[in-house]
Amino acid sequence: MESGGGARVRRQLQAVGRVAAYLGGGFLLLSAASTAAVRSLRYLSDANQRKFAMLCGACEGKGTYACRLCRGSSTVEWSPLYDPVFVNPCLCPTCDGTRVQRCLNCLGKGYA
Ligand SMILES: [Zn+2]
Ligand SMILES: [Zn+2]
Repeated sequence: MESGGGARVRRQLQAVGRVAAYLGGGFLLLSAASTAAVRSLRYLSDANQRKFAMLCGACEGKGTYACRLCRGSSTVEWSPLYDPVFVNPCLCPTCDGTRVQRCLNCLGKGYA
């Protein structure tokens, strides 16, 4: 009698576990589906924006323009004592040496 009851409890536990696994799987599936939906929605709105928005005038749709601080040389001449003898070329802090900076008008999207 004792073992029969134990087996039933075990079976119930297994059933609970199966339901939990099923729910968990559903959750995962749901979250994956919603993530995909959000991503496709975002893609669509992005495409719409791109279709209807005007090209950014500041960067001509590139999203970046030549760094204005170093004017494309990737370094700035910086002197701690305003002494022309100790002028050091420093990595440009605005573009980090990439020579381009993100367009502030369109935030790098290329359209406004
Ligand atoms: Zn720069
Ligand atoms: Zn721009």
